[in-house]
Amino acid sequence: MASEDAFKPALLIIDTQNDFCGPDGSMGIPQGRSIAPVVNKLLDLPFFLRVATKDWHPRDHISFASNHSAPDNKPYDSFVTIANPLNGSEKQTTRLWPDHCIQDTPGADIIAEIDQGKLDMVVEKGQDPRVEMYSVFGDPFRNPQVTRSGLAETLKINGVTDCYVCGLATDYCVKSSVLDAAGEGFKVWVIKDGVKGVDTQGCEQAFAEMEKAGAEAIQSDGMEIERVKHWKT
Ligand SMILES: [Zn+2]
Repeated sequence: MASEDAFKPALLIIDTQNDFCGPDGSMGIPQGRSIAPVVNKLLDLPFFLRVATKDWHPRDHISFASNHSAPDNKPYDSFVTIANPLNGSEKQTTRLWPDHCIQDTPGADIIAEIDQGKLDMVVEKGQDPRVEMYSVFGDPFRNPQVTRSGLAETLKINGVTDCYVCGLATDYCVKSSVLDAAGEGFKVWVIKDGVKGVDTQGCEQAFAEMEKAGAEAIQSDGMEIERVKHWKT
């Protein structure tokens, strides 16, 4: 088989955690929990690797509004500029959130509706208190990047060619993970009915950005998914 025909698919399930789902999550995403049946349907497919990610923050994480001073410490409303801890001249503006997905708390658990017995791997992210980390692959700084999860390396060592992405939230961690996956050289498919986002407008922009980066938006019952059912090593 020619290498350009190589196909080895992985499923990435982004941050399907209690704190991101209503009604009790600290930052419940509208209808976040409703994607569980789609996620479970995808977990039944013969992906080479089924990976779930978890936002996994220490209590002093920089993305928590509670760790900043007034007046710029309002969850959802406040944005702060943070500098690369390894290079003070690289700066980014980032949104502040309620405390969420704190390590070893129920809010950080994957929602009970998802069939976790079918997961091959769980990757934790966002442990470095100094940087935001929406993407499962690493933080957004580049000069240099501060922390990487090692997932890209794991996928590449195993010969994975295609990443199928679902989860929460479309306009934040899904988008950043998709953009990084495309940047790492994977073919990326976003499962439209397997994602939910924070802001409606943000989701539209997110899909535009993801598609511009080369990702394709598909439905979980679309013809593109058939290839996953029949691939062979
Ligand atoms: Zn977070």
